[in-house]
Amino acid sequence: MTKKAIVWIREDIRIEKNEALAFASQNHETVTVLYIYNPKLFDKKREAQKWWLSKSLENFKTDLDRFNISLEILSDDEIKVFSNIKKKDDVTIYWNKVYEPDVISNGKKIRDTFIKNEISYKYFKGNILLEFQELTKDDGTPYKVFTPFWKKTEQTYLDKIPSKILKIKKKQKKTIFFKKTISPKDFLPKNDWFKKFDKYWTPSENEAKKYLQSLIKNKIKDYSENRDIPSVEGTSKLSPFLKFGQIHVETIWNECQEIKSKGMGYRKYINELGWREFSHSLINYFPQMLKGNLRKDFDNFPWVTNNKFLERWKKGMTGYPIVDAGMRELYETGWMHNRVRMIVASFLVKHLRIHWMEGEKHFKNCLVDYNKASNVAQWQWVAGCGADAAPYFRIFNPILQGEKFDKEGTYTKKWVPELKNMPNKFLYKPWELENKYQEQIKVIIGKDYPSPMVIHEEARTAALAAFQSLKKN
Ligand SMILES: Cc1cc2nc3c(=O)[nH]c(=O)nc-3n(C[C@H](O)[C@H](O)[C@H](O)COP(=O)(O)OP(=O)(O)OC[C@H]3O[C@@H](n4cnc5c(N)ncnc54)[C@H](O)[C@@H]3O)c2cc1C
Repeated sequence: MTKKAIVWIREDIRIEKNEALAFASQNHETVTVLYIYNPKLFDKKREAQKWWLSKSLENFKTDLDRFNISLEILSDDEIKVFSNIKKKDDVTIYWNKVYEPDVISNGKKIRDTFIKNEISYKYFKGNILLEFQELTKDDGTPYKVFTPFWKKTEQTYLDKIPSKILKIKKKQKKTIFFKKTISPKDFLPKNDWFKKFDKYWTPSENEAKKYLQSLIKNKIKDYSENRDIPSVEGTSKLSPFLKFGQIHVETIWNECQEIKSKGMGYRKYINELGWREFSHSLINYFPQMLKGNLRKDFDNFPWVTNNKFLERWKKGMTGYPIVDAGMRELYETGWMHNRVRMIVASFLVKHLRIHWMEGEKHFKNCLVDYNKASNVAQWQWVAGCGADAAPYFRIFNPILQGEKFDKEGTYTKKWVPELKNMPNKFLYKPWELENKYQEQIKVIIGKDYPSPMVIHEEARTAALAAFQSLKKN
């Protein structure tokens, strides 16, 4: 056994239930935690997450100090960093797995480097309930439908003997391994759009624990009703913490199991964790979906290129208040409520017929919880070209969606304050309010708030025609 250990962290920025970190601290004299910031993965692609990552690493550094473990950050390419580690460095490398096809193939190259350089290494299960390789249908093929997938995953996971929880051990002294390290502040985005996120989030393990407690105590009981109402904080908001591993999904699962009376809220919540598992399974069995439609019949879909419309959608200036509220919530907070994500996504791919990949790209840049698997699977679910997807012909009516899920307009008026005096009857179709009343409330549609960029009925008809055209191919 070497004296030194390096724990390479990626999406496991936590002390608790961090197997690689615990194992290394139990078995080596000194431990260095390494984060490799690879600009190729972030710059101009994941600006919101750069902020989350930077703050998370700052907070994690303080957490690790208590254990005399240093956090060292390098800005480089992973393979380059690891090829420079040699046998004489007397170090073992540890990590927890990440389940994305390109990360897995990069991992193989890294392992080859270690073998060539005679470096010992060990890796552990990542932030998932069941690894995708553990689960296929009885005939050995992967699942494409959620319900049977989740039924089997849940049962297999429940039947598994839980892994022993190793605890992190305090080291006697802190050491420094790498030269030319950087500070988390060095990769904060250059523009200061993200600064307002400070108002909404504290990216730390401790905060994740508080969110989990709040879910169990205050939210889960009524989750099945409240999860669809964007004005109510009815969901866990744990998604960015899960993405960066400030909490392990098994920790959430275990806390949920402790609930004495497990009602519909519990069931629905656990199901959502299932969708996260399903998305990971899909992108690994069908990696082609990361680059295009899972359903090949959609390859001939007549998408529209319209940059002006795309920009208006991104800015929350479509003229459909519930859509604009969602897009503005995203830009302001780095997060958007799930019901509204479905509405804005449907609007982009059906009302505007702009390719789902444009929406996927925008979400990737703006979401603090961006997750490659969930994002791509959900965009394709909405577009109708994914696994077990919503049928394309089911087109959300943004007026009715607003009236149904934000009846009082609390959410919409919060994010679209120009409409704060709009009577609720007209909130989701403000262009129908007579001009004289628009003047009275000092909101002129087309001047103070945009006119609708497309007419719902016309857009719906055009979308259905486009969909029908697929069948003729
Ligand atoms: C177009 C679109 C894009 C999306 N992109 C992402 C993304 O990049 N990252 C992401 O984590 N989620 C994504 N989702 C799923 C979902 O909107 C978010 O997971 C959820 O809103 C996060 O809030 P929460 O933590 O309060 O969720 P909760 O309702 O508290 O759910 C608990 C957890 O379950 C998981 N989850 C919930 N719903 C889904 C779902 N439909 N698919 C997969 N996992 C789910 C998340 O990890 C979430 O934290 C997307 C949904 C849509 C419609």
